Amino acid sequence: MNTSSSVPSTVPETLARLEDRLHHAGQRLTDVRREVLQAMVTLGTPRTAYALLESLNQTRKPPLSPISLYRTLSFLTEAGVVVKLESQNTFKLCLDATTNHQHVVMICDTCGQTREIHDEALAKTLTQAARRHGHTLRHPVIELHGVCQKC
Ligand SMILES: [Zn+2]
Ligand SMILES: [Zn+2]
Repeated sequence: MNTSSSVPSTVPETLARLEDRLHHAGQRLTDVRREVLQAMVTLGTPRTAYALLESLNQTRKPPLSPISLYRTLSFLTEAGVVVKLESQNTFKLCLDATTNHQHVVMICDTCGQTREIHDEALAKTLTQAARRHGHTLRHPVIELHGVCQKC
């Protein structure tokens, strides 16, 4: 059974959730942003920018340019609904309702599965540690490499 905090299961539901989050962040969902999010929801993430571009341009006329895609991904990352995983050079959706949280992502090095976790204590520790050194965290992504339960 789904609870209100669970991940939405259908593409329209997921898009509605993302749109809602952008709205709360005071951002608009333009056609291109919607297209990119839709592709990410449909394909499942994480994906490389190249894979997203290829998928979008299968049906798109005129094709989306790589620069437009990067600009859109960077906007969505800044808005907190997309997370860039530097170690894989991929982008994943973040459906968590709270904006400006720390994205702590467990990555399985065997099957590539990723899972984002939320740990208040960890977030607090990191924020305070950074602050002690005069550093303000903005959109931290913490990648935890390891092996998942299934593997
Ligand atoms: Zn997140
Ligand atoms: Zn695995």
